[in-house]
Amino acid sequence: MSGLTNPKVRGARGLGRFEFSKAPSSRSSRLIQKGNRKPHFTTATTMDEEHIEKPSKRKRNAAKAKPKEQRQHSATKEAVADIEDLFSDKEIHKIRASLLDWYDHNQRDLPWRRITQTKEIPVKEEEGEGEGEGERERRAYGVWVSEVMLQQTRVQTVIDYYNRWMLKWPTLHHLAQASLEEVNEMWAGLGYYRRARFLLEGARMIVAGGDGFPKIVSSLLKVPGIGDYTAGAIASIAFKEVVPVVDGNVIRVLARLKAISANPKDKVTVKKFWKLAAQLVDPHRPGDFNQSLMELGATLCTPLNPSCSSCPVSGECRALAISKLDKLVLITDYPAKSIKLKQRHEFSAVCVVEISGRQDLIEGDQSNSVFLLVKRPDEGLLAGLWEFPSVMLGKEEALTRRRNEMNCFLKKSFRLDPQRTCSILLREDVGEFTHIFSHIRLKVYVELLIVHLKGDMSDLFSMRDGENTTWKCVDRQALSSLGLTSGVRKVYTMVQKFKQNRLSTASAAARKRTSSKKSGLS
Ligand code: SF4
Repeated sequence: MSGLTNPKVRGARGLGRFEFSKAPSSRSSRLIQKGNRKPHFTTATTMDEEHIEKPSKRKRNAAKAKPKEQRQHSATKEAVADIEDLFSDKEIHKIRASLLDWYDHNQRDLPWRRITQTKEIPVKEEEGEGEGEGERERRAYGVWVSEVMLQQTRVQTVIDYYNRWMLKWPTLHHLAQASLEEVNEMWAGLGYYRRARFLLEGARMIVAGGDGFPKIVSSLLKVPGIGDYTAGAIASIAFKEVVPVVDGNVIRVLARLKAISANPKDKVTVKKFWKLAAQLVDPHRPGDFNQSLMELGATLCTPLNPSCSSCPVSGECRALAISKLDKLVLITDYPAKSIKLKQRHEFSAVCVVEISGRQDLIEGDQSNSVFLLVKRPDEGLLAGLWEFPSVMLGKEEALTRRRNEMNCFLKKSFRLDPQRTCSILLREDVGEFTHIFSHIRLKVYVELLIVHLKGDMSDLFSMRDGENTTWKCVDRQALSSLGLTSGVRKVYTMVQKFKQNRLSTASAAARKRTSSKKSGLS
């Protein structure tokens, strides 16, 4: 099989069977337990049996003649081969042809596809004569950027980011010259910032290597941040290597086509999905086929409302066949829902420190103010990104305790001390919100602190103890145009709203005072 060139796929040999003839849901399990009817997935079993070749009489006799131990060994080997778990040749041909045809007529027009189309490139170019190396690399770079952006992010959101990214860094060489700060700014709002850092590190590594863009999965896997999925996507779409890709969309489609009810997060099951995808990938148009499978999952075979009546492979879909026979089985029972990891609860106090050039507070006037930003450590969550000063709290804490912690941090890191180095013009609790990361629920307490420094800012900050803390002060305009994480942006928005509310309350009070004065005079 041409698609079995991925080492991960080869490693899938010797794995156990799928559970595609078992009930996927508790409803179905209950029915079987009653024992008053046959297990209702016999249709699936029948379908499996279509692909099992019966051994010839001679082979059966030979097997009987073997010692028991040897027979058991052979049985294990047969279970390992497990041909009925795979697609039949007939199914493979049908699925390939139907999906590619459907994809050719229905694929969405996405910016990264415009530079990755392969079918319009003349044969001469496909043979490497006409199409320059630069063109292929540009295509690979576009696939790489889009695939990394699309991880955990919706297509509609990615389009804008992708266009801006390609405008700024149209080639790998342009990206390799960017700074991490620029890349983070461009990425701001997409989340999972490690992906952006890996893109930059990967680009630098490839350019420094001087051998051009890696073209096969095994070389691509050596690039920082490129895993099995991205390697398969780049190699198949940009360089036509006949390798599969498996992402969430592909898993859903395959789980339904084969009615697989095993836990899709289980390592063994994941390897099986790679094996099935490798079987299907088209040897002539591997990139288009992989995209067609993903496109089907993204547009028709969706998690909650699959559009089976429009599906080009409905004739090969076991989940659909089973659900038609047994109304208690839903297509959406496939793939099995995996249990979500429990999120950790964390707590943080954030202080927006506004340093005012004025000694008194004039509400609404920020013309003479700058905001203090701190760079996060280069490792860990949101590595290397700018944020307002923050401290982690061990648990939920009351305002006094939070302020004590923040005072210690500001004093230690910047020598900001209300008694000695600055005067406080305003300090208010602004509110709180919960920011969700994949594995953490972070409760963020936000306060605003407006200070006027008693001495010169550079003297004060350069004498600080927190030498490991990288910081900068930016004015309002710069802050608005900076690429900030969605969490930091949220904090800033909360503070701005808080100020506006204060301002409107203050002007309403002032108007009231004026009108009462007037009425007193009259
Ligand atoms: S028939 Fe329905 S469930 Fe099966 S692959 Fe197509 S859309 Fe998905």
